[in-house]
Amino acid sequence: MTTTTTDPTTRQRPRQRVCILGATGSVGTSTLDVLGRHPERFEVFALTAYSRMDDLLKQCLQGRPRFAAVPTESQARTLREQIKAAGLRTEVLSGAQALCDLAAHPEVDSVMAAIVGAAGLPPCLAAAHSGKRLMLANKEALVVGGALFMNAVSAGGATLLPIDSEHSAIFQCLPEDRARWPGRIDHILLTSSGGPFRRRDPATMASITPDEACAHPNFAMGRKISVDSATMMNKALEVIEARWLFDLTPEQIRVVIHPQQIVHSMVVCRDNSVLAQLGTPDMRVPIAYGLSFPERIESGASQLDFTTLGALSFEAPDFARYPGLALAWQTLQAPMGSTAVLNAANEAAVAAFLERRIRFDQIHTVIARTLDAVLPGGDACDSLDALLALDAHARSSAEQTAKALAT
Ligand code: NDP
Ligand code: MG
Repeated sequence: MTTTTTDPTTRQRPRQRVCILGATGSVGTSTLDVLGRHPERFEVFALTAYSRMDDLLKQCLQGRPRFAAVPTESQARTLREQIKAAGLRTEVLSGAQALCDLAAHPEVDSVMAAIVGAAGLPPCLAAAHSGKRLMLANKEALVVGGALFMNAVSAGGATLLPIDSEHSAIFQCLPEDRARWPGRIDHILLTSSGGPFRRRDPATMASITPDEACAHPNFAMGRKISVDSATMMNKALEVIEARWLFDLTPEQIRVVIHPQQIVHSMVVCRDNSVLAQLGTPDMRVPIAYGLSFPERIESGASQLDFTTLGALSFEAPDFARYPGLALAWQTLQAPMGSTAVLNAANEAAVAAFLERRIRFDQIHTVIARTLDAVLPGGDACDSLDALLALDAHARSSAEQTAKALAT
């Protein structure tokens, strides 16, 4: 992408115009925090939200974006009035298509994909097709999109930059030039905190409440990814995400528990040299790297103090405690589309758990039964429409199981 503006207050540095999909969420607000530290480098071009309209209004007042987007026309009308009353010129769009239009807007240089869930896939594909710098936090989009997503990135000439901290770590351990990746990696180690229930008595897992599940030891994140961290389905999704981002076989991806979350992931090279990326657990580091790659900019994160850090520990994941984790490798070996079924079942099960319709331990039951019931056809991954149909089918099957379990 060549579209740029020049900030007259600095030398000739071109400003990146950034569109944040999911601006009101945890990753979205951290992105705005990093952008706010570098007004000479970045311009907030577009912000999107789903339900937190008051937060979006505040973000508009602060970032003065050219566009904002919300799901419904009635939300848009209210926001337009508020924006007008505040003397802003932000244009407010509505509907799912608006997300794609903004992600592909000719004046946008960079897209932060920070929507949660498969809902982020269409705008991610639009950004990929349009050749943007695509910063991907929305792992579900890649888990569902798989080869279709990666083909769109190469066909569109987009630059895909991982924001998930583990994948950013791997990316930071590899040469900047992708052409030099092949043949270098023996395997990668994705680290995981083990979530809040690493030491909990398995007999009490059934009584875990949504608030307990959302209390992550090191990160304040959205509720869906918090539950995913507690079940380790987040790590399962990350294994699938890594398969596509780094073009690895399932056998080349391993998981290790590292409760302190200081080592964000590791590459074991062909010669058995191990490269790791370390830092305080703060999403602003991978976000800043995505925004500035291949340069580095100040992120706002605090520095590691090795004199007070203490011990760093590592252990094998407990596949009996976290039965969902193994599904990553199983679905990667199964017919294409199985990872999309896994993701849809998980999204439906987590929503049912957060709404207190099913118990914590039943999340896995819903996922396992959905994978048994929904078998993707040979053309399930050929197009966005086919993937969305598979996603809808798997969701409705998962919903039925959740209903049956609830009664
Ligand atoms: P949040 O729930 O905090 O934020 C999600 C954002 O997406 C919000 O802006 C929300 O709008 C918007 N949104 C929700 N549903 C829809 C929808 N159907 N259509 C359009 N927009 C929608 O999530 P996080 O920021 O925690 O996570 C975002 C993504 O990043 C996830 O895929 C997660 O796995 C990934 N990620 C997050 C990390 C973290 O530290 N939080 C770390 C690594 C990856 P609103 O709030 O207005 O309802
Ligand atoms: Mg992660």
